[in-house]
Amino acid sequence: MRKPVSSVVGQRCLLAAVLSLASFGLLTSCTEPPAKISEAEHAQPAQSFAQWRDGFRTQALAAGISAQTFDRAFQGIEPDESVVTADRSQPEFSRPIWQYLESAVSPARVHNGQGRTLENAEVLQRIEITYGVDREAVVAIWGMESNFGQQMGSKNVIRSLATLAYEGRRPDFGRDQLLAALRIIQHGDVPASNMIGSWAGAMGQTQFIPTTYNQYAVDFDGDGRRDIWGSSSDALASTANYLKTSGWQRGQTWGFEVRLPQGFDYSLAEMSIRKPMAEWLRQGVRPASGTLPSDPQASVSLVLPAGYRGPAFLVTDNFRAILKYNNSTSYALAVGLLADSFKGGGQLAGRWPVQDAQLSRSERIELQQTLTDRGLAPGAVDGIIGANTRKAIRAFQQTIDQPADGYPTPALLRQLRNAN
Ligand code: CA
Repeated sequence: MRKPVSSVVGQRCLLAAVLSLASFGLLTSCTEPPAKISEAEHAQPAQSFAQWRDGFRTQALAAGISAQTFDRAFQGIEPDESVVTADRSQPEFSRPIWQYLESAVSPARVHNGQGRTLENAEVLQRIEITYGVDREAVVAIWGMESNFGQQMGSKNVIRSLATLAYEGRRPDFGRDQLLAALRIIQHGDVPASNMIGSWAGAMGQTQFIPTTYNQYAVDFDGDGRRDIWGSSSDALASTANYLKTSGWQRGQTWGFEVRLPQGFDYSLAEMSIRKPMAEWLRQGVRPASGTLPSDPQASVSLVLPAGYRGPAFLVTDNFRAILKYNNSTSYALAVGLLADSFKGGGQLAGRWPVQDAQLSRSERIELQQTLTDRGLAPGAVDGIIGANTRKAIRAFQQTIDQPADGYPTPALLRQLRNAN
């Protein structure tokens, strides 16, 4: 969901807790100055934490959690105010995609990934056979999520989720995840004290939230426990299992950079628009370098992460599989480029429009409000640039005879202000 990608990074920050397979380590830079929080959001819960916990205990026991599991997991647990703060922050500034990619696909990470791929060659081979998922993609996600198991978060997941269930903005999310976490403990995969993760409950080397864990985590090293914290075999196989379920096709590329012809219709750059590769070729789209790395019959979409002046990509169903892991164009692109870079690729021919400042959250809200005032229906005025906002931007761009790429820039915002 991050296409005209100024929004993309911000959007991921906002939705991370819900979608949550995000590598929260990478998000710290987008949680810069928290915006003001309304009185309603500051409201204290009506009951004490102990009262809430006792009520939840009854629900958990009714849902099949044993009293012993519950009481052990909750021993000494108090709300964590840092979780509340993180949950309520609405970042005003986000990094542009080129800065995000610079750290996500850094030379150090590429080097580490190549080393990890060699070290784990035997298990990755078995994973490819068992799940049909290419090793580079699995290792790239490992690098993105936890820096190859080095950064898994440091918070007690029961405490974080109990805090979110008690006083978070989405208490239902917290409660569902907490119940799922208690099931994991009861199943014997990990003791509560070792269940470590991010403030939003993303756990271990794969940064799975508990419901995702219960659906996709596997025991690949055969010790009887799905240990995504301590076992890289389990973590890598769990990631592969997730990608397989999301439709990964072994041996197929995630996508590749392309060049667009003069006069191209940029409004075709939407994930909702899919065409056979051959059709894009007919329209003059060409690989930016080398030969076509994909089946001409493959159904692909065009992505312009920074508008028409930045690099363009055709992306396949494997890109969509990565998006299911974390619904962010920047993230999926980083995983794809990182995977390519392990094999010596991953360099881009196009240049990012680095002179463009990113719109702040307030400016994105102003942009949407102005579009709304013009009757262009950008959807909710929430600072999140989604498909509706892009469509509204395109409609405005057409009225002023500009390339309709749907990408919000400071120049576009100025033009909108002047036009009103
Ligand atoms: Ca295991």
